[in-house]
Amino acid sequence: MVHNSDNQVNIIKKIEELREKIRYHNYRYYVLDDPTVSDTEYDRLMRDLIELEERYPRYITPYSPTQRVGIEPVSEFTTVKHITPMLSLANAFSTEELRAFNQRIKKLIPQHKLEYVVELKIDGLAVALVYENSIFIRGATRGDGVTGEEITSNLKTIKTIPLKLFGEDILPHFEVYGEVYMKKSDFKKLNEERIKKGESLFANPRNAAAGSVRQLDPRITAQRHLDTFIYRATFPKGNNFDAHMEVLNYLKKIGFKVNPHIKLCQDIEEAINYCQKWIEKKEELDLDYEIDGMVIKVNSLKMREELGSTTRSPRWAIAYKFPAQQMTTKVQDIIVQVGRTGALTPVAILDPVRISGSVVQRATLHNEDEIRRKDVRIGDIVLIQKAGEVIPEVVKVIKGKRTGKEMEFIMPSQCPICGAKVFRLEGEVVSRCNSLTCPAQIKERIRHFASRNAMDIEGLGPAIIDQLVEKDLIKDISNLYFLKRSDLISLERMGEKSVDNLLDAIEKSKKKSLANLIYGLGIRYVGVHTSEVITRYYSTLDKFNEARLEELIEINEIGPKIAESIILFFKEKENLAIIERLRSAGLNFSQEEEKTRKEKVARILAGKQFVLTGTLKDFTRTQAKEIIIELGGRVTDSVSKKTDYVVAGEDPGSKYQKAQKLGVPIINEEEFKKILTSE
Ligand code: NAD
Repeated sequence: MVHNSDNQVNIIKKIEELREKIRYHNYRYYVLDDPTVSDTEYDRLMRDLIELEERYPRYITPYSPTQRVGIEPVSEFTTVKHITPMLSLANAFSTEELRAFNQRIKKLIPQHKLEYVVELKIDGLAVALVYENSIFIRGATRGDGVTGEEITSNLKTIKTIPLKLFGEDILPHFEVYGEVYMKKSDFKKLNEERIKKGESLFANPRNAAAGSVRQLDPRITAQRHLDTFIYRATFPKGNNFDAHMEVLNYLKKIGFKVNPHIKLCQDIEEAINYCQKWIEKKEELDLDYEIDGMVIKVNSLKMREELGSTTRSPRWAIAYKFPAQQMTTKVQDIIVQVGRTGALTPVAILDPVRISGSVVQRATLHNEDEIRRKDVRIGDIVLIQKAGEVIPEVVKVIKGKRTGKEMEFIMPSQCPICGAKVFRLEGEVVSRCNSLTCPAQIKERIRHFASRNAMDIEGLGPAIIDQLVEKDLIKDISNLYFLKRSDLISLERMGEKSVDNLLDAIEKSKKKSLANLIYGLGIRYVGVHTSEVITRYYSTLDKFNEARLEELIEINEIGPKIAESIILFFKEKENLAIIERLRSAGLNFSQEEEKTRKEKVARILAGKQFVLTGTLKDFTRTQAKEIIIELGGRVTDSVSKKTDYVVAGEDPGSKYQKAQKLGVPIINEEEFKKILTSE
């Protein structure tokens, strides 16, 4: 007896605890649009409560969250009553539960043949739209299902909500229901903008849509590009509709946006098959809107009426929820990964959780700033999400779960792979390792070094590079020049001929120009063009290596960021050692035997007068002007007989016609470049 009453107390306690939690999460989700648990975790709490209440119906109270939908409207908006209640949907998480749903219906209405309509469950927020004489007159959120918030002006900004309907046969007064959602692409853009502005991020497109539609200023809603799918209507009595499919077709015809992936199924098995197909193809179809499951509905409207509803949901429909996309878990540690281009990415090591059918143990934290912005600490409980194929990411920290023992992350000052000094350039979010010997980057460095604009080593493709690195035959770019025939012949898919060709190509590369070599070193920000610029000022690699920061910044096309990157590159001891090995291999380190390009071309452009018109592909107007001036020429604004060349890019202006009229030579961008590089 004692034991039994103890048990009762525990059950009541458990039920109340669940209700308290659900109430709190409802508030976060519906009122603040800022949930702190994933939908799956919320669904689990709700299920536990429903199960307990089903087992102990005497404890059901009218204020239990199972007894109503959503939450009463609390905001500044006026409230309106819906024509028919906007209920929630019962959930199923397995095919067995779908079959049980079918059995329940069959028991209630055994005499009927059942057809089901299967639809995508759009993860947005439900709205009700009232039309009178074809005109949209009022729109509201679902609220608590009976009354919602009146948000007509905001809904009018959504382009797919018709303000006036098409056609003649339109019923004079009715209400339609559907889902307002934000496209995934718009959500991404919105959050990117919010990062830039330092504003808090929306957890997912649904919260973003809910936040956008409940703005007091409709102009903000308009900027958010929301969209809709309509899936139900309440028509006045005496209408001619027998089936849900007919209603959907009618809604489409008069101007509503109805989702195209809707299927009429002859029985529950066909409906289940269609759901399974979607679970499989969801990722690959990559829809631009979130779906969190499928909805299975009885097609016949008469049967729906017979079946009726519970306080929370209709008996004639069920939502089959997809496996979770978001979960909460604990950050065990934050480690740093070094990418193939030297970028250091902090990664959260997590207590393993299952999301979308796979176990997740790591989530990217992008960069140091992002960690600070989200304030992620080691030991935190975080919400993580997996979006499509994307690597899981930490959405936010559940700060209420902090114990005070969490530890802040500190970006290492040395590369965790090779120990070189880590640097982060002014204005960049990413920290990097710039060492030529870093094993994490070696393959990419060799690929870059051998590429056409660098040393142009034909035959040194990715498959060969992989083998050379994996067999420890090369550890950095300089080792390429010490490879022996016997090393190469041992590689897979390398015959005598290809070995000879590769050795030839390596040998030939030693003669490549200084600009090619500089580009090949892969100094951050030093691209093909900058390498060329550098060789106009420094005729040997040694002179370049000794350049001081102030001196580099002086050069027109080298800004402080590039200059700083160059200085840091030459500060790394390992990099200097490799340069010495390249020298001993006999690479061309200078262009002293020729005149520097600057002197050479200056002679050619000296005294020449240029006019620029149209858009050039590889230079801005200012860049082109600077180059001409630097090489001794002049640039004027208008064409005259004194003009030597008119350089015409795309969409040239009237200067082009004038040049034609005066017989001044007109050259295109390619010809212009040839002049710049001519001997
Ligand atoms: P629901 O989202 O499970 O299902 C009902 C809703 O589905 C309808 O109101 C409608 O808006 C929508 N829907 C989408 N496509 C539809 C279609 N084709 N046909 C009919 N309806 C369609 O239930 P709910 O009551 O809206 O919300 C409860 C859900 O919200 C929970 O399952 C949970 O996932 C989430 N929630 C989460 C938290 C949280 O803290 N994470 C808190 C509260 C609610």
